[in-house]
Amino acid sequence: MRKFQVTVLGCGSAVPTSWHNPSSQMVQYDNRQFLVDCGEGTQMQMIRYKVKYAKLDHIFITHLHGDHFFGLIGLMNTLHLMRREKTLHLYAPKDLDEIIRTQLRLTNTTLFYPLEFHALEDYGKSAVLYEDKHLTISSFPLKHSIAVWGFLFTEKPLPLNIDKNFIEEYKPAIEQIKAIKQGEDYVTPEGKVIPNNQITIPPPLSRSFAYCSDTAYLESTADYVKGVDLLYHESTFDDSREELANITLHTTAAQAARVALNAGAKKLLLGHYSARFKKDAEILQKEAREIFPEAYLSNEGETYEI
Ligand SMILES: [Zn+2]
Repeated sequence: MRKFQVTVLGCGSAVPTSWHNPSSQMVQYDNRQFLVDCGEGTQMQMIRYKVKYAKLDHIFITHLHGDHFFGLIGLMNTLHLMRREKTLHLYAPKDLDEIIRTQLRLTNTTLFYPLEFHALEDYGKSAVLYEDKHLTISSFPLKHSIAVWGFLFTEKPLPLNIDKNFIEEYKPAIEQIKAIKQGEDYVTPEGKVIPNNQITIPPPLSRSFAYCSDTAYLESTADYVKGVDLLYHESTFDDSREELANITLHTTAAQAARVALNAGAKKLLLGHYSARFKKDAEILQKEAREIFPEAYLSNEGETYEI
């Protein structure tokens, strides 16, 4: 199985604390890296936790609140100083393009590498942003005081595995092997049809990861992330501050758990903790687990397999 994991670089919210960094996560699939959000200090977190970024070509920013992108210009400048030559793709709300270009222009910086900006739009539904042979990354709508997008990483269905005994006995040609892996039956030189399901083994189920950044509780989120293996969902507040969560368009841990439950997620990661929680964020995990037992507090420097 290909490597599919996420490393949390920051799981605090907007008010700075010495115990959490603002939002950022590095997703790795096979030999590719994808950064989701880039709060202040993200590159320092990468250094601290030895997260390399040589394979990083795509950065996704959920929304334009500073705790989700103030680290971006610093990281981009470092890539420039390192004489990066590969194109860097940035998927973000459209105004970030202007912010970055202004920062570069007024600091007299001409990036050493090409920057390709992909402006997120108000699709009102799920939309594919990135696709390669093995992975699809799509956005879906969330709800906050400013335009915001969630991101879903989905592994493409893996091909069928062919039974070794069949290959030894019938010695199919390469083209026939390819066809069988795609689900076709095998026809012997004598014209006998061997059904596909008798000569193949189902592949492991394709895996997925969803990132739900700052958002009010939404029923629709569960539909967008149905059956996800790992769901990161913000959980800024505990139950006692549900009203504050509603007013500020954030989510409580219990509401995040409800999304995970309704989605049929396998595991829930909590984060974007209010600065109120110091070492006592366990209350969030406790409240979430009453609804969804597979809920865990995320933490900086930890890597979660998907
Ligand atoms: Zn935030």
